[in-house]
Amino acid sequence: MSTTLPERTEIGTEIACSAEPPHRTELPRICPAPRVPLVTGESVPYANLDLAASAPPLQAVADHVAELLPYYSSVHRGAGYCSQVSTSVLERARDTVGRFLGARTDDVVVFTRNTTDALNLLARAVPGVVLSLDSEHHANLLPWLTGPHRVLTAAPTIAQTLENLRAALAADPVALVTVAGAGNVTGELLPLAEIADIAHAAGARLAVDAAQLAPHRRIDIAATGIDYLALSGHKLYAPYGTGVLIGRRDWLDAAAPHLAGGGAVRAVTVTGDEAAAGWAPSPQRHEGGTPNVLGAAALAQACRALDPVIDHDAPAHEQALLERLLDGLATVPGVRPLRTWADSTERVGVVAFTVDHHPAGRVAAYLSAEHGIGVRDGKFCAHPLVDRLTGADEGAVRASIGIGTTADDIDRLLTALRGLTKRGARWDYEVVEGRWAPSPDPRDLDPLGLGEARPGATPGAPACA
Ligand code: PLP
Repeated sequence: MSTTLPERTEIGTEIACSAEPPHRTELPRICPAPRVPLVTGESVPYANLDLAASAPPLQAVADHVAELLPYYSSVHRGAGYCSQVSTSVLERARDTVGRFLGARTDDVVVFTRNTTDALNLLARAVPGVVLSLDSEHHANLLPWLTGPHRVLTAAPTIAQTLENLRAALAADPVALVTVAGAGNVTGELLPLAEIADIAHAAGARLAVDAAQLAPHRRIDIAATGIDYLALSGHKLYAPYGTGVLIGRRDWLDAAAPHLAGGGAVRAVTVTGDEAAAGWAPSPQRHEGGTPNVLGAAALAQACRALDPVIDHDAPAHEQALLERLLDGLATVPGVRPLRTWADSTERVGVVAFTVDHHPAGRVAAYLSAEHGIGVRDGKFCAHPLVDRLTGADEGAVRASIGIGTTADDIDRLLTALRGLTKRGARWDYEVVEGRWAPSPDPRDLDPLGLGEARPGATPGAPACA
């Protein structure tokens, strides 16, 4: 890649564009990352290469939430000025998010907690069998277990997988086909318009888990033929607790409320010892209780900030860094990047890899403790896929990038991996409560001075790592 990549001049400052920026529109700024301590006593700027798990907020998002806070008030039923402003912010956010994602005018935009919540909502609304791939994140596998479902094993190529999908649907029709737009292990993209055609030709609808796709690529729900789309604000640079489910009204209006309670009803009566509800139409039907106005506003502001750059400039920035990362990993002995499909041509900035003779968890602990680099390790809540790709219980290491990632972040990772494979770690590591950790770990893990969690209050490693 001949483009010059932006370097972070110093932590806490915005990305300084070099003389020849690879993008024409300046990318939105990320909230500055802190310096973080190393086990050796120094501190370094945090290199966040774990954006696929949760992305830091855009500065514009944090500023918008701060600006909104004085007006924050109850929504929908409040007559006060601030209640009316808050209600308008919430409803405007619905519109902004829907437009950013190319929703049809009659699609419903339901605010949820995250992608998992959105897909659980959809699972209770599907009037028939759901078919998913075995390569999906658990969030796009487990919600379907509550109803009739089938799982199609992803073939070694996308072409063969789509052929198998066609055959599976012809043999036994389903109501809904559901796939991730971009995989959370390998970042590979699926041809969504083609899958929509296959599903529709077989009389099925298509749901897309866009948790990993939306932060990296423009999505056009209507033009692509997507019937339902789910995503998480915290992966889209708006970590304020909101996600969305967007899609066709009929199933959503026929479904039982996802969260029954105040706000989801038009009228409630009690006759004798029985209560009855006249449920509101969607989206309110599924948004019982007080909505997360700040989360919705944050998500909408992220959409506004990304809109000018998501077609070209953000993907160009990311692809240049991705190439640098993949080229660099290819030069580190023993590092093996994973791939789901041999014929995939496009991927977002998500790269999982194994390192020969080094357990993934120990590599991740080393990168954090000795280099101040944050990555993810394990099976990334995609156990069936990672088991197949690695053939090991250990899982893999995942580096993921996006807006705000710099060439320096990538180079630090590559240098650290080279050091590990050549000389080994300089510190000792052991498994503590199921996770690799430095031994000892002299770092202050409470920089905000909040005090230690009660002994026993912190569970060990999550089961779905
Ligand atoms: N789908 C994919 C592809 C993901 O990568 C993730 C999270 O990593 C999810 C769904 C679940 O997202 P959330 O935890 O925000 O519900």
